[in-house]
Amino acid sequence: MINRRKFIQHSTISSLAVLINKNLFASKISNFKNKPIVISTWDAGLEANKAAWQILSKNGRALDAVEKGVMVTEASKNCCIGLGANPDRDGFVTLDACIMDENFNCGSVAFLERIKHPISVARRVMEKTPHVMLVGNGAQQFALNEGFVLEEQKLSKDAQQSYNDWLKKAEYKPGVINIENKQQQAPAKLDNGDWNHDTIGMIAMDANGNLSGSCTTSGMGFKMRGRIGDSPIIGAGLYVDNEFGACVGTGQGEDVIRVAGAHAVVEMMRQGFSAELSCKKIIERIVKIKGDKVKDIQVAFIALDKNGNSGSFAIHSGFNFAIKNNTEEKLIVSKSWV
Ligand code: ASP
Repeated sequence: MINRRKFIQHSTISSLAVLINKNLFASKISNFKNKPIVISTWDAGLEANKAAWQILSKNGRALDAVEKGVMVTEASKNCCIGLGANPDRDGFVTLDACIMDENFNCGSVAFLERIKHPISVARRVMEKTPHVMLVGNGAQQFALNEGFVLEEQKLSKDAQQSYNDWLKKAEYKPGVINIENKQQQAPAKLDNGDWNHDTIGMIAMDANGNLSGSCTTSGMGFKMRGRIGDSPIIGAGLYVDNEFGACVGTGQGEDVIRVAGAHAVVEMMRQGFSAELSCKKIIERIVKIKGDKVKDIQVAFIALDKNGNSGSFAIHSGFNFAIKNNTEEKLIVSKSWV
């Protein structure tokens, strides 16, 4: 049992800790040296960041920047993100996306078919409904009511080809996703200009120091029909806490969900760890859970703290993220566990 003296000692230490934390935080918020800034996952992020920058550089809102930024990737005719992506096992492309602003407002759609910009539907869910998440037919119906157009149900040429190839074996197990330059020996950008990824996640901090994030994906290629990964799940694929930082994840969604990945990373930043170390700690948690199976999966997180400092960490090498601010525009090769 804790006696009165110990209790007082304990509360004094706690109060001191709170004071120290507050002071640390106070010095943090007066130091927005890097704003505005945008970061996003993979090489495709370079193009997406340019679109986000058009908003950020004109003192626009981070929320608008992260929506407009990833729309570029959703619309690009590549094999892996948006309606041009690989289908599920039944041959249908299903899309997931979510968005979150500086006030804990968030919106999400999952298992959405035939709509070009799931991220914008997610934003409408956030702004126009009392809910956070809509899925499947309901999400599609909502999108149509909001004026979105129903696109043709047709696989892109590349996706049809990959689907035909996959059907030859139709192996009923999740593929090894996003381990570049290792098992798959696949470059991030393919010869035909396509991107070898099925997700883009973006975090921005605007000139006012406000954070927002977005994440959009076709999910794992040849997934089971109805499968949803981490990307549309607030707290798993994306989380924003405007006081401390934001994080977005990519990779094997199931393993991000089981540790509530993005939220866990942000909680590390809340405890005072840097963006990179916060990502690393949660990657280590996943590595520990997976044991030997870790060789089969890739997970990566990128994070931005309230100071505008970015960081990332992945399980396997080959992950990179794109950064743009007033002084630099580049791709950063992430540190990794392997
Ligand atoms: N996280 C996505 C999912 O599991 C896939 C990815 O990031 O590549 O659906």
